[in-house]
Amino acid sequence: MTKTLEVHVITPQGIVYEHHATMVVARTPDGDLGILPRHAPIIAPLTIDEVRVNRIDSKEHIDWIAVNGGVFEVRDNVVTIIADSAERERDIDVPRAERAKRRAEELIAKAKEESDVDELRRATVALHRAINRIKVSKHL
Ligand code: ATP
Repeated sequence: MTKTLEVHVITPQGIVYEHHATMVVARTPDGDLGILPRHAPIIAPLTIDEVRVNRIDSKEHIDWIAVNGGVFEVRDNVVTIIADSAERERDIDVPRAERAKRRAEELIAKAKEESDVDELRRATVALHRAINRIKVSKHL
């Protein structure tokens, strides 16, 4: 019986993560999705959030990946995540994420003053990306 999954996280910049795992938990608009080996095939959208991977090494280890939305596919014990951007906790530049957060907060305030709905939506998404990176970096 297969006891592991392969996990691949792919972005336009290339492969961000590739490992064997015993479990993957990702967040979809409908809630958390926990994937164990031999899971039925699925495709689901992801929200801007963290993905948790119980990775196999000499011992079990948890990796955290900040994903900027994207698509999650499970098939034949392979989990593939395709996202515009994704970073492992150890690769996150925290000062950069904090600067992005401040910038997004300023843009949100300005967009509200100017009733600029498109800019408000863009800046709110940017704020979520920055907050997610800061959250994931704290797992280190
Ligand atoms: P910034 O305003 O700091 O560029 P952003 O949310 O606009 O943030 P993205 O467009 O999502 O950035 O990502 C562009 C590229 O930069 C991607 O490759 C992403 O992985 C990387 N990146 C963005 N922010 C960080 C960060 N804080 N640490 C590490 N890599 C980052």
